[in-house]
Amino acid sequence: MGEPVQWRTGEDGHAPDLHGREVPMRRYRPGEGVDAVVVGTGAGGAPLLARLARAGLSVVALEAGRHWAPARDFATDESEQNKLFWTDERLSGGDDPIGFGKNNSGIGVGGSTLHYTAYTPRAQPDDLRLRSEFGVGSDWPLAYEDLEPYYELAERVIGVSGPDSYPWGPPRRAPYPLAPLPLNGAAQLMKRGCRTLGIRTSPAANAALSGLYHQDGIGWRAACTNRGFCQAGCNSGAKGSMDVTFVPLAIGAGAEIRAESFVRLFETDAGGRISAVVYQRDGVEERQLCRNVFLCAGAVETPRLLLINGLANASGQVGRNFMAHTGLQLWGRFDEDVRPYKGIPGALISEDTHRPADADFAGGYLLQSIGVMPLTYAGQVARGRGLWGEALTRHMRGYNHTAGINILGECLPSPDNTLTLSDELDGRGLPKPLIRFSNGENERRLTAHAETIMRAIWSEAGASEVWAFPRNAHTIGTCRMGRDSENAVVDPDGRAFDVPNLFICDNSVFPSALSVNPALTIMALSLRMADRFLAAARA
Ligand SMILES: Cc1cc2nc3c(=O)[nH]c(=O)nc-3n(C[C@H](O)[C@H](O)[C@H](O)COP(=O)(O)OP(=O)(O)OC[C@H]3O[C@@H](n4cnc5c(N)ncnc54)[C@H](O)[C@@H]3O)c2cc1C
Ligand code: SF4
Repeated sequence: MGEPVQWRTGEDGHAPDLHGREVPMRRYRPGEGVDAVVVGTGAGGAPLLARLARAGLSVVALEAGRHWAPARDFATDESEQNKLFWTDERLSGGDDPIGFGKNNSGIGVGGSTLHYTAYTPRAQPDDLRLRSEFGVGSDWPLAYEDLEPYYELAERVIGVSGPDSYPWGPPRRAPYPLAPLPLNGAAQLMKRGCRTLGIRTSPAANAALSGLYHQDGIGWRAACTNRGFCQAGCNSGAKGSMDVTFVPLAIGAGAEIRAESFVRLFETDAGGRISAVVYQRDGVEERQLCRNVFLCAGAVETPRLLLINGLANASGQVGRNFMAHTGLQLWGRFDEDVRPYKGIPGALISEDTHRPADADFAGGYLLQSIGVMPLTYAGQVARGRGLWGEALTRHMRGYNHTAGINILGECLPSPDNTLTLSDELDGRGLPKPLIRFSNGENERRLTAHAETIMRAIWSEAGASEVWAFPRNAHTIGTCRMGRDSENAVVDPDGRAFDVPNLFICDNSVFPSALSVNPALTIMALSLRMADRFLAAARA
């Protein structure tokens, strides 16, 4: 696989750990070809980076954002932590324009997992067979059984806390690595409302540690202190984001993370294979020669890079079928002192609505409790209720008595929901992405069904001043996976049909949205993709 050489020895060769201590990291010379360049270190990039490095491959990850040391660099302060969000402008159109920036994707080593809530349910087997079941949407070219061992591995590495017995989906082959987390205020209220309606609930699977946890190659990580600021980054390392789990594993196994390196171009050889990745660092353009590329930049930047480079798009599917989960939130006021900023924000779940008997739509949704930080909530109120100034201030006086629940529901792929390149250029001289999104009839019916149930739950729980905030969450689709090169961008192993040494692994390859939070499935896909790549390389 080619011996790596030290590059700029003594000048670099270190990366920060959780506490800001510098740990040794291998360096590769850009002018010498590495086995693989991984673009992006989020849920898609980091697991396969670790897996490939562990197998002895020379791998370099190029990451646009900084390599933070959470204990040193993360504050319990929402404004300060805006540094974790991808805030380059994205143009948003359609009937239901998606909110980007803080609402949708992250930047930095660890990607969007730096600020995710860490809800980590698995998909259910029928999530992957939507078209077979309903005649709409898309089937995945994989079965649950293909992902199952990788779900288990990902859960172990990031340290998922969960119940002894999870009421939905196939029986688990192994228990969750850690006991469930305590329920925060919103979760206790949701449980109360659901109980009287006969809706089953369970402590959620969440990648925050309910106890001290040890993993070889990572070391000890502290238990969650219920600080409640998961979406602003966890400064104790208790949350299983990529920077404190798969990234240290990758570095320990010999991978290099080149942070603050923004990828712009791919150079190809006469055979159509990518030979180098061109990126900008410290204002200087550099080229990393490579034998393979794993593009893991998320469902906006991945298709944008492919469109800018005119790559992997013989099917015309790059940028099509943009999806965003239906994510209605319902907020209410309670007599109880809820303190929504306290406790684990992702605490309680119900999948009783996975396939509702009275549904007039395809697919289903899950119900989850929400914890919320004050500025985030104020932003939701301003956007959702149009309250400003004195009216907003008055509303916020009741913040400590506020609790929310939300859904995560299926969103059908539609060729009309697209990502294209706009004529406007960004600060780097690259076309800004333009995303057009409109909910279809299926999403509207599903949301209406959910709102009725959610209002009943909050009513039973004793809520007053209930208000609904319709929204869509997560960026999904745009480079879909399939068996047919005419209809898909990558095959079931993530290999681009048109470019034999290009692999894609992130939210973009999902053929359908799944009615669960996506991160654990992305990690499982990433680990599987690495194994498929290694098996093909050995054959
Ligand atoms: C507030 C919030 C809460 C969430 N909570 C949950 C949750 O509870 N559970 C769940 O499952 N999901 C959750 N999500 C979603 C989840 O975080 C994402 O779906 C997931 O992390 C996406 O993984 P990815 O690999 O596709 O992209 P990302 O994790 O976003 O990684 C992409 C990486 O690529 C880098 N990159 C992009 N372009 C370039 C370039 N040109 N050059 C170099 N690097 C580049 C980015 O900086 C980033 O680090 C949440 C999201 C948000 C916004
Ligand atoms: S609630 Fe737990 S996991 Fe979330 S930020 Fe606080 S310590 Fe970290």
